[in-house]
Amino acid sequence: MAFEGLSTRLQNVFSKLRGKGKLTEDDVNEALREVRLALLEADVNFKVVKDFVAKVKERAIGQEVLQSFTPAMIVVDIVNKELTELMGGTQSKLARSNKPPTVILMAGLQGAGKTTMSGKLAKLLLSQNHRPLLAAADIYRPAAIKQLQVLGEQIKVPVFALGDQVSPVEIARQALQHAKDHNNDYLIVDTAGRLHIDESMMEEIKQIAETVDPDEILLVVDAMTGQEAVNVAESFHKQLELTGVVLTKLDGDTRGGAALSVKAVTGCPIKFAGMGEKMDALEPFHPERMASRILG
Ligand code: GDP
Repeated sequence: MAFEGLSTRLQNVFSKLRGKGKLTEDDVNEALREVRLALLEADVNFKVVKDFVAKVKERAIGQEVLQSFTPAMIVVDIVNKELTELMGGTQSKLARSNKPPTVILMAGLQGAGKTTMSGKLAKLLLSQNHRPLLAAADIYRPAAIKQLQVLGEQIKVPVFALGDQVSPVEIARQALQHAKDHNNDYLIVDTAGRLHIDESMMEEIKQIAETVDPDEILLVVDAMTGQEAVNVAESFHKQLELTGVVLTKLDGDTRGGAALSVKAVTGCPIKFAGMGEKMDALEPFHPERMASRILG
């Protein structure tokens, strides 16, 4: 599970603090130095760490904390609130258009987990009595279309595909028409990713976006890639009007820095977390729950 290292370190810092009773300014400063190191070691972006510690410090060095009989509890509470804020504050829900279908465009690098996440979202929507349609617009990765079709069959969601000889823009355009004609209230378009961000991929996804006018452009990022995930999010955000981020592979042994940095760096809320390869391994991302999980 992600965050294990960070969680253990922060819990150690706070249990030391609790053992002290009344706190001096030096005690708080020392604890915050350790918090800073723990966050850096968890691969949180250094600018994000700097701002975070400054904010906590501003609130924790006040009279209220230093004169309290339970100062450590107040410090933990401040860290908890700032961590929650860092990850976006409140849960950010999936968009819903009042002119169906709601169109969701999935963006991201190859291997990030776009196709898997497309299936998971479709399954979630189906369970909420929606009528999702999946569109297979990744014509470059061998077997991507087949992978989506197999997932579709498994979760009982229709998949719109035109093979790999039709352009992704055209596939997306026809998929939207198909959704309208068949009363699908959500259309999820799975697009191609490359191993690295490249111009032709960006150009293509921009064209798809212009064609289907999505209500939601979700960037799928692999949490295992750490700082790279944040760089990817920044680059995509410059080119596309992202409406949210989805973090995948949070079930893995990731240090969690990406989850803690990506909202601060891009301004985009994290909407979902992928917690495994199975179709039901999906969690809405709750910043406050995640913060509590980290602080134990
Ligand atoms: P795409 O190229 O972006 O469409 O990526 P895929 O959806 O094909 O996923 C790439 C690999 O990551 C596959 O082996 C998936 O099973 C795996 N994967 C996707 N999401 C998760 C996740 O949340 N946790 C884990 N452990 N594996 C995942």
